[in-house]
Amino acid sequence: MKVIKNYINGQLINPVFDKHLENVDPSRGKVYSTIPDSTAEDVQLAVDAAEKAFYGWANTSKEKRSAILMKMAQLVEDRLDIFAEAESLDNGKPVSLAKAVDIPRAVSNLRFFATGILHFASESHYMESEGVNYTTRKPIGIVGCISPWNLPLYLFTWKIAPALAAGNCVIAKPSEITPMTAYMLSEICLEAGLPAGVFNIVHGLGHKVGDAMSRHPKIKAISFTGGTKTGEIISSIAAPMFKKLSLELGGKNPNIIFADCDFEDALSTTMRSSFANQGQICLCGSRIFIERPIYEKFKTAFVEKTKKSKVSFPSDPEAKLGAVVSQSHMEKILSYIQLAKEEGGTVLTGGQRVILEGEYKDGYYLQPTIIEGLSYDCRVNQEEIFGPVVTITPFDTEEEALMMANSTQFGLAATVWTTNLKKAHRVADNLQSGIVWLNSWLVRDLRTPFGGVKASGVGREGGFEALRFFTEAKNVFVKS
Ligand code: NAD
Repeated sequence: MKVIKNYINGQLINPVFDKHLENVDPSRGKVYSTIPDSTAEDVQLAVDAAEKAFYGWANTSKEKRSAILMKMAQLVEDRLDIFAEAESLDNGKPVSLAKAVDIPRAVSNLRFFATGILHFASESHYMESEGVNYTTRKPIGIVGCISPWNLPLYLFTWKIAPALAAGNCVIAKPSEITPMTAYMLSEICLEAGLPAGVFNIVHGLGHKVGDAMSRHPKIKAISFTGGTKTGEIISSIAAPMFKKLSLELGGKNPNIIFADCDFEDALSTTMRSSFANQGQICLCGSRIFIERPIYEKFKTAFVEKTKKSKVSFPSDPEAKLGAVVSQSHMEKILSYIQLAKEEGGTVLTGGQRVILEGEYKDGYYLQPTIIEGLSYDCRVNQEEIFGPVVTITPFDTEEEALMMANSTQFGLAATVWTTNLKKAHRVADNLQSGIVWLNSWLVRDLRTPFGGVKASGVGREGGFEALRFFTEAKNVFVKS
C-alpha cells in the first residue's frame, strides 16, 4: 500500500503525530493508500520552513523562478501516462479523460504562469505638472492554497503556479479524498530544483489542516476552491484577520437552449456539459432550460443519447462515465434523485446505482440521470448536486428563461444556445454569472478572468488576475 507523505522543507515526511487516513479507490470501493492525518503542528512546520525560504525565493529572479516551474511542467508531461492513471485511480474518472484533460491542463497551468510572470508588468500613472506614480507588485509572503477533489492536479496547479511564479512561499492542501497526484508533484519538486521550504504540501482533513491554515497569522492570503459552505467557514476565520481571499465556490449552472439553436451542436455539447467527469465539474450545466417549440424533440434525442452513454470502470476506453468520487458522495447524489421524485419530478432515464462485475463490483457508479417536471424553485433546482444528474424545463419567453436561470443563490457559469447574435449578447449580458459560453462549453483561455458571482465566489483567478491576487501593490509618488 502506498504511503503518502507531507512535503515540508524540501523533504517527504510523516505527520508529527504519525496518524494516517485511508485513501479509497472509488472504482473498486477499496482502500489503496494512506495519507497523513496532519494537524496544526504540521502546518506550523510548513510555515517555519516557508518563512525561512521566503527572502531567498522572493529575491530569486523571475527568470529563474520561471525556469523551475517550466522544469516541473516538463517532468509532469514526461510522466503524463503515470499521472493520468494515478488521477483516475484516486478520483474514479475515466483514464481517457485524465489523459486528455486533467494532466495536460496541469502542465499548461505550470507553463502558463511560468511564462506569464515574465510578462507581468506594474502600472505607472503620470500627473502632468506634479510628478509620477509608479506601482510595485511584490509577493505577499506565505500564502495558502486549498483545493477540491473533482479536478485534483488541474486545480491544485491552477493555484500554486501563480503563487510560486509571483515569488510567494506556498502551503498547499489538496483534497484528502484525492491526494495522490499532489504527492507525486512533490516528488517532482525535488528533481526540478525548487529550493526547500518554498513549496510545502500538508495533507489531511479540511477541519484540521485547512482550518489551521485559515487561522495561521503568518499565512497572509488564502486561495480556496471548493464548496460554498466551506468558503463561508474559511472567510469567517480569515476575513476578520484581513487576509486576502480568493474563493471559487459552488454552482448550479443553467443551459439556455433557444429554438433557433444549432440543434446537433447544442445536443452533443449538452451531453458533455451534463455528464463529463460524472457531472463533477463546477462548470457543468445542471439546469437545462429548453424553448418550448423544440422541447419534445430535444428531450427525446437527449434521453436517447444519454441511455447509450457507457458507465464503466475507468480504464475501459469506451467508458463515458467512470465512478463518482466516494460512497458518501454517491449517497448524496442518490438522495437528491429521491428528493426529485418527492418534489414531483419524473426520472426520464437513469436514477440508479450501477453495479459492475468482478473487481469493480463495489465501485461507486451511477447512471447518468435526466429529470423533468420540477418547478424551477424546488430544492433539486436550487441546490448543488455535483453529480451526473440534470433537470430539463421548458420555457416560453426569454424573460422567463432568464428569471429561472438567475433564480439560484449561485452564479458561476452559464451556456446559451441560439443563432441570433443580438439575443445571444443580450442574454449573456443579463445572466448573473461570472462566465458565459455562447454556443459552446468549457472553452478555456487561461488569460481570461475566472470566477463566480453571488454564492459562487469572491474574486477572479486566471491570467494576470491571479498574479495580481498573489502580489501586493504599493504606489510610490515622485514629485517632478
Ligand atoms: P469542500 O469544500 O468539501 O473541500 C474543498 C477543500 O477544502 C478540501 O481540500 C477540504 O479538505 C478543504 N476544507 C474542508 N473543510 C475545511 C475547513 N473547515 N477549513 C478549510 N478547508 C476545508 O469541496 P469538495 O467537496 O472537495 O469539492 C466540491 C465543491 O467544489 C463543489 O461545491 C464545487 O462546485 C466546488 N468547485 C468549485 C470550483 C470553482 O472554480 N468555482 C471548481 C471546482 C469545484
